[in-house]
Amino acid sequence: MINYLDTLTAVFGYPVSENPTVVMMEAAFKTTGLNWKYLTIEVRPDDLKKVVRGARAMGFKGFNLTIPHKTAVVQYLDEITPAAKLIGAVNTVHHMEGRLIGDNTDGKGFIKALEEEKIGIEGKNIQILGAGGAARAISVELALAGATNVYIVNRNAEKGLDLSNHIGYNTAAQSAFVPWLEKIDIKEDVDILINATSIGLYPDESQPVIKWESLPAATLVCDVIPNPPNTGFLQSAKAHGARTIDGLGMLVYQGAIGFKMWTGYEAPVREMKQALEGAFGKT
Ligand code: NDP
Repeated sequence: MINYLDTLTAVFGYPVSENPTVVMMEAAFKTTGLNWKYLTIEVRPDDLKKVVRGARAMGFKGFNLTIPHKTAVVQYLDEITPAAKLIGAVNTVHHMEGRLIGDNTDGKGFIKALEEEKIGIEGKNIQILGAGGAARAISVELALAGATNVYIVNRNAEKGLDLSNHIGYNTAAQSAFVPWLEKIDIKEDVDILINATSIGLYPDESQPVIKWESLPAATLVCDVIPNPPNTGFLQSAKAHGARTIDGLGMLVYQGAIGFKMWTGYEAPVREMKQALEGAFGKT
């Protein structure tokens, strides 16, 4: 007998209709032969408390949170992981033995995507554009994974400084804030440059303006934007000879970590990625 109440999962967001997670999660359930369902549910901020209570009562095995609920949800959970606490936001909740446990898999997903390309973090110098949710998750996880320097570049200086201070105080990495200039300079010792802003997310075709001639040779350039995967930022980096990694890997792996948490099975990452590429039209 199938217990449907044990097999519901979801993402809660507002707005949420464009959220692509359902595409890869349904592909993962199908590939694994699980009779599970992933729902995309629009939840207004005022309703989040009731919805989390409802998910618990209905036996949802877990759920994802997206804008604007990643921070607000913390107060309705029983526990959050130390990394999620340090990041200050939760994107994945696991309902286990009656308890709702919050984690943040965005930064871990990013690191997994690097590992897939055989790139380690230990001792690396990172320059990250942005200080929002994605930048925060990635920079904290990179610092915890052994990065030496984390340079934060952000348009809003207060937010950027706050994030660099947070990393400097709470991790072994050194961190500095770099002002967002009209043309962004790349620090001379940078190994990995990351766009973690929302610039370039479909339908926006713009890109952060970089002084590409300052890009050190052998610097890896990454984008968190999954749609389109081949952003203008990555196209410019390639034109300047850089190796690049797009935002699809991070998206797949942050979901794969949640999938394993909920189901206990290794996620079929290849099929998840194919499903997303189909949805986004990888170019
Ligand atoms: P937030 O709204 O929390 O942060 C947005 C960031 O982008 C801020 O640092 C903001 O700067 C900056 N920004 C936006 N527009 C501009 C601009 N015109 N000029 C300069 N800076 C700008 O969003 P998130 O961090 O949650 O998400 C960022 C992106 O990451 C999204 O596009 C999302 O799709 C992607 N993402 C990808 C994931 C993946 O798995 N691949 C997972 C999570 C997110 P300021 O502080 O100055 O406003």
